[in-house]
Amino acid sequence: MLTELIETLAAAHSLTEQDYQVLIDLRTPEAAAELAGRATTLRRSIYGDAIYTRGLIEISNFCKNDCLYCGIRRSNHACQRYRLNGEEIVSCADEGYVLGFRTFVLQGGEDPYFTDERLCAIVSEIKARHPDCAITLSMGERSRESFQRLHDAGADRYLLRHETADRAHYEKLHPQEMSFDNRMRCLHDLREIGYQVGCGFMVGSPYQTSAELARDLKFIEEFKPDMCGIGPFISHKDTPFRDKPPGTLELTLYLLSIIRLIHPPVLLPATTALGTIHPLGREKGIQAGANVVMPNLSPVSVRKKYMLYDNKICTGEESAQCRSCLAGRMASIGCTLAVDRGDIRRRP
Ligand code: SAH
Repeated sequence: MLTELIETLAAAHSLTEQDYQVLIDLRTPEAAAELAGRATTLRRSIYGDAIYTRGLIEISNFCKNDCLYCGIRRSNHACQRYRLNGEEIVSCADEGYVLGFRTFVLQGGEDPYFTDERLCAIVSEIKARHPDCAITLSMGERSRESFQRLHDAGADRYLLRHETADRAHYEKLHPQEMSFDNRMRCLHDLREIGYQVGCGFMVGSPYQTSAELARDLKFIEEFKPDMCGIGPFISHKDTPFRDKPPGTLELTLYLLSIIRLIHPPVLLPATTALGTIHPLGREKGIQAGANVVMPNLSPVSVRKKYMLYDNKICTGEESAQCRSCLAGRMASIGCTLAVDRGDIRRRP
């Protein structure tokens, strides 16, 4: 049964939602190894041994939202708030350029300070200084007009995890004022405007079962995102989900392999959360089919304040250290960090 499902998935890049659920429910170490082998072969056939890097700049931890899982939710009064100014953000990008980054990800809470005007000015300044680089935004939900303005200013990509493709589950992870429909609307608007779009979800988020995961996989199969960020849920001590158990390494790796088979050219990061739940999490992520890593380019002085979950790694190091640490980790598994924008490739 399991072997058959894997064969079908590898050949058709598709399963029914029900079969995705069976594939998850029947997970064995042997099936995981089989999927990882196929996923890495496929990754290599498209991208060789190159692993793409994105320099992550955490520009603000102010957030108007109150997602129940997130350490920078507005109700967390223990969180020390900060935001970087335009100059600081641009200088992080300058530093990253020298280190070999050709993509910068500006991520933050939904901070009303970052109006279109302010954000567009920063995007166009970075683009003017580094025209060979891609800019990715990950600033949450905005209006279509805002997405359009930012794209016009030079933003190339947008990351907005859908968090869960199941409406009832979405409502258990978010307060009432947040809307599943608006999140999905954003993803579709971004695609129509011409962004390369990333979605994604947490593995092992509270109330998630294989049924919700199967729905996430079907959504990914249908939406065919350019990027897909998945990492384990990890609780944060100052959130309502403080006592919820984390997602597991094994299930995250299994899903990474499945996603590579569903959408072969997808840009798939081995996330910081994966590196947080296991010391070799990111290496294992690459060995399961991922092909992107996102080292931190934020000033060291703010890193400990961008705590989405407890014990987040890489909060004490300089950017150069972060990059060289990851280069070493990738070399240890026969991969190299590319100095490249790392756009999605179509299959050969
Ligand atoms: N405000 C932006 C960026 C959010 S932070 C936005 O809405 O897109 C980036 C991602 O971190 C989130 O999409 C979420 O999936 C993840 N995240 C938040 N809290 C987490 C936790 N406790 N454990 C693991 N991942 C978490």
